[in-house]
Amino acid sequence: MNVEFQNISSQHIRNCFLKAYEGFPELHRHRLIVQQQPMRTTTMQAQPVVNLAFFRQRKRHYIIRLSDNIHLREQVRVHELPEEVLIGWFAHELGHVIDYLPRTALGLLKFGIGYLMHPNFRIGAERKADIYAIAHGFADFVIATKKYILEKSNLPNRYKSRIERYYMSADEVVLLVQKQEKEQLRMDTLI
Ligand SMILES: [Zn+2]
Repeated sequence: MNVEFQNISSQHIRNCFLKAYEGFPELHRHRLIVQQQPMRTTTMQAQPVVNLAFFRQRKRHYIIRLSDNIHLREQVRVHELPEEVLIGWFAHELGHVIDYLPRTALGLLKFGIGYLMHPNFRIGAERKADIYAIAHGFADFVIATKKYILEKSNLPNRYKSRIERYYMSADEVVLLVQKQEKEQLRMDTLI
């Protein structure tokens, strides 16, 4: 296995990551680092590792960083999140990696700048990560994550409104899956 856990003592986090990872076979030949570290503004992020392999698409390494808590220390601890929520979250991050795979080094650089500078670009990138996670069979998990963040958890409204601004809602995901199912049905009847 090409996964290296750094600074992650929680077996629950490791197990949830591996359950999501199993669903993304096209990532298995890439070296993947999962690292827990304090982060101020985000809970998780997926990025390519900038080293020599960065310039070779097929060899590139990726890193998924996660904080030890959701945004505020007194709030929810990541290792206490329910299994499906954590799997959904990891599936979203792996969705980002799927989005990075075909990009050149220059393309990734442009992506990074676009993500930081243009809200619309960022919204598009977040939607894509969800769509890739859904296409890999994680729709229910992605919905569980969104519902947890927006409905169940007592996160500060500031954090929730940022999520609402940049991310697809659970209802949108349901609609998307229904649309895909309908299309699949149509395909099946055509065959
Ligand atoms: Zn994301």
